[in-house]
Amino acid sequence: MPPFAMTSPKTGEKLEAVDATPLEAIADVVSKARAAQAVWAAMDVAKRVAAVSKVKTRILTRAEAIAKTIADETGKPDVEALMGEVLASADVVAYWAEIIADELEPFEAEIDGLSYPKKAGLIHREARGTIGVIMPWNFPFALPLRTFIPALMAGNAIVFKPSEITPRTGQLVAELFADLVPAGLIGLVQGGGDAGAKLCGSDVDLIVFTGSPASGRKVAHACADRLIPCTLELGGKDAAIVLADADLDRAANGIVWGAMMNAGQNCGAVERVYADQKIVKELTDRIVAATRALRTGEDVGPLTTAAQLATVKRHVDEAKAAGGKVLVGGEETPGDEKAQLGYLPTVVSIEGDESALVADETFGPVIPIMAVADAAEAVRRANASRYGLTASVWTADLRGAEKLAKELRAGVVTINNHSFTGALPSAPWGGVGETGWGITGSPLALDHLTRPRFVLLDRNRASRELWWYPYTDTLKKIALAFAKLRGGAPLGGRIVALFSLIGLLPKRMGELKAATRAAHEPGKIDAS
Ligand code: NAD
Repeated sequence: MPPFAMTSPKTGEKLEAVDATPLEAIADVVSKARAAQAVWAAMDVAKRVAAVSKVKTRILTRAEAIAKTIADETGKPDVEALMGEVLASADVVAYWAEIIADELEPFEAEIDGLSYPKKAGLIHREARGTIGVIMPWNFPFALPLRTFIPALMAGNAIVFKPSEITPRTGQLVAELFADLVPAGLIGLVQGGGDAGAKLCGSDVDLIVFTGSPASGRKVAHACADRLIPCTLELGGKDAAIVLADADLDRAANGIVWGAMMNAGQNCGAVERVYADQKIVKELTDRIVAATRALRTGEDVGPLTTAAQLATVKRHVDEAKAAGGKVLVGGEETPGDEKAQLGYLPTVVSIEGDESALVADETFGPVIPIMAVADAAEAVRRANASRYGLTASVWTADLRGAEKLAKELRAGVVTINNHSFTGALPSAPWGGVGETGWGITGSPLALDHLTRPRFVLLDRNRASRELWWYPYTDTLKKIALAFAKLRGGAPLGGRIVALFSLIGLLPKRMGELKAATRAAHEPGKIDAS
């Protein structure tokens, strides 16, 4: 199979040729990035932020051309590319420009002055170094940038491997930074999984990976072999829980958007609806009506790849065989559009959770609806998935929903909305289970993109610390008195321990001084 997708899923037209990066050239790209990183990290953070911030204007002034390239490669409607990728990415730049200098400021560690006198500790955040960024095709512009922006501002270099399905958008991402950062700081590697594997095995300090659980496992193994960290943002099977008191119009419209956006090729797409049996019929009617109203091509684009179309067809066919009822859609887009990998927006009413349509990631424009007896059953079934990215609760009872949110096994829970928080730069995005680990968005992302360096400053001029050699009976008594003081004895015992320390500490100081004196006169050590 050639490494790059060569025709547009939207128009069927031929796309511009892309040159693959030879596998043997990847080490060189990484070493150039590493050399540039040393210079970049030494720069003042304000200068780095000023340079990277210029990307915002480039994104906004190139908005239409960027959206066109995204739409040509993925098939998604231009407006979706503009809203979800172009504007969202400009917001990411503005967000990090505002907060990152403060986030990178060293901060003091609390140190108990009695146990550790005259010491001050500062926690610095250092750049991680050279970061390999390996990305999928479904949001080929926004996903890399949500890591690029904070990573670069924090002083890292990046070697970027876009998906082989969207290499042209990948190139646009890298080009945004031309002349703004030192040459080589951002390396671009074009190719398929073998190029990604090579990057994981190269001299990088961290891999930030977004993609399927199958590839994520390989990345995790490769990083384990090199003993470097990786962050994994993998698949999802989001549940939407609709309670009996929900605003059904809002719930239906929100669920249809959450499920059909990007033709359902969204890690945070609604892929399961658990609706209270009291309202399931009314909700389903509304979802079916809203789905029928969608215009193929304008509202919902084609699937991006033939493999994706095949998965969607298989899941719907298996669900039908398992007793599921297709209420709308359930087949490929008819007529001329068939060549464009389209699948009609589909709603399926189904009972159990066993079929692939309900258990596995479909990544297509299909909504399975299941009736549940109550909220408890909905939460139990929502949590039974091996994935755990986002989940939503639709209800008028916000307090009750907040309680349910705590029971849901998901990295993000939205109440009366679904999954759009991936576009909020201040919100952490990540999941549990086979959705992997790793956070993008919010200052928590810096826990991956930087590493702490703790610097301790000691102003103690004593020749020996209390706990240094020689170990003596006095030191043991002091340790036991500290144990009582810190909670190892009732109040009376703590008071006795405090008084005993008043005698023990000067005695210990005397021992330490004596030991230092004796060191100048070898043969005279007496620690009794
Ligand atoms: P994929 O795993 O096929 O590919 C992702 C990237 O990994 C590509 O660049 C690919 O070339 C590379 N790759 C493949 N094998 C590799 C290997 N052995 N070593 C290193 N890199 C390798 O995924 P995809 O089909 O491009 O994307 C769809 C998946 O991504 C879905 O499962 C979706 O849920 C997930 N996703 C998750 C999030 C999230 O935030 N959790 C966001 C978007 C997409």
